[in-house]
Amino acid sequence: MDLRLTDEQRMVQKTIRQFVEKELMPLENEVLRNDIEGKPSLPPEKLKELQLKAKEAGFWGINTPAEYGGADLGQVMMALVLMETAKTFVPFQFGGTADNILYYANEEQKEKYLIPTINGEKKSCFAMTEPGAGSDTRNIKMTAVRDGDEWILNGEKTFITGGNEADFVMVIAVTDKELGPKGVTCFLVDRDMGWTSEYIHTMGDWGPASLFFDNVRVPHENILGEVNGGYKLGLEWIGNARWIVGARAVGMAERALQMAIDYSKERETFGKPIADRQAIQWMIADSAVEIEAAKWLVLNAAHTLDRGEDNRHLASMAKLYGANMGNRVIDRVLQIHGGMGYTKEFPFEKWYREARLWRIYDGTDEIQRMIISRNLLKGNVKIGDFI
Ligand SMILES: Cc1cc2nc3c(=O)[nH]c(=O)nc-3n(C[C@H](O)[C@H](O)[C@H](O)COP(=O)(O)OP(=O)(O)OC[C@H]3O[C@@H](n4cnc5c(N)ncnc54)[C@H](O)[C@@H]3O)c2cc1C
Repeated sequence: MDLRLTDEQRMVQKTIRQFVEKELMPLENEVLRNDIEGKPSLPPEKLKELQLKAKEAGFWGINTPAEYGGADLGQVMMALVLMETAKTFVPFQFGGTADNILYYANEEQKEKYLIPTINGEKKSCFAMTEPGAGSDTRNIKMTAVRDGDEWILNGEKTFITGGNEADFVMVIAVTDKELGPKGVTCFLVDRDMGWTSEYIHTMGDWGPASLFFDNVRVPHENILGEVNGGYKLGLEWIGNARWIVGARAVGMAERALQMAIDYSKERETFGKPIADRQAIQWMIADSAVEIEAAKWLVLNAAHTLDRGEDNRHLASMAKLYGANMGNRVIDRVLQIHGGMGYTKEFPFEKWYREARLWRIYDGTDEIQRMIISRNLLKGNVKIGDFI
């Protein structure tokens, strides 16, 4: 058994680290200043410019299949990349990607939706959550009623990431009420078919939106996948992001902890650096252990998927532990910085607000615990199954 990264993985990790240090970190002061002045963290054209620089360095479509021009690096590599990019709070994502379920599109849909999304010409969002159906996805009320070659959609979606910017939405609606979760369908709906959106102000930088459908007519050919096959797609979309939350938490926590270590050696109280105090040392030690534990959970979840095996149990564990680890570590790091930690001169308050979201979206802490315990209680998974 060899738990070390391969030479190729190390090389990718190093290249991404250099990109983050050279291209992204120098923008951090500008991002903090823009935040204080209430401006967008980075102008969209700057993000595009950075994506093109990353493309020149070979990082485009990290997980996109090669037939669509992507690097198709696999899940472990993706985890390593995310851990590196999360070391900065400069809002950056690599270009050349599309939502996992968009690959279920048929050939015409691929031309119209998948390929323009990968190329950055169109923006998508995914809408499952409703005001009365968040964790309880079986309670979706949005209706889709067939009328000849069209479906008429009515209802409201909420907390939709990118919903205010998207050109089209992959939206889940009830097509056969009698069938429960087996009676929902996913539709590809262009904004100009008539849905509207409203920005939701949150405690973080993540600005989701509510989407409103009032007799929106959608051609039958815009069904993604099968009629009544939407629930599976929805769960696949949500499940895909779970261990990714853990990877982000690891990256953020590693950077923040290093900043706390550096600060603790410089900051003196009562004639000594605070690093000499056991209270500070224990916060550093506990954080380092928890980061390492989260990292292994994330890499195990990613590696399991790379082997083509079911990683849902591990993904829930990586999300639950990673999200909570991220919250604990950023809280300690802020504490070690004292009053300065609470200011907008440092990124900790920003990370603190961001980290709080990790425990809510893509399935809350409570839902992850429900999944993990259900798997164990039903015997679907046994303790110690994974190594
Ligand atoms: C910033 C942001 C972005 C989002 N992006 C998207 C998106 O792009 N697309 C999308 O479809 N959705 C998105 N969501 C929705 C997100 O997935 C839901 O908010 C989340 O699943 C929780 O649902 P809820 O808010 O309705 O809370 P509820 O389901 O109402 O839960 C309230 C509380 O009760 C707990 N709870 C619920 N059921 C149980 C239970 N059975 N046992 C114990 N405790 C329980 C929950 O854990 C939580 O603590 C986003 C949310 C946010 C905040």
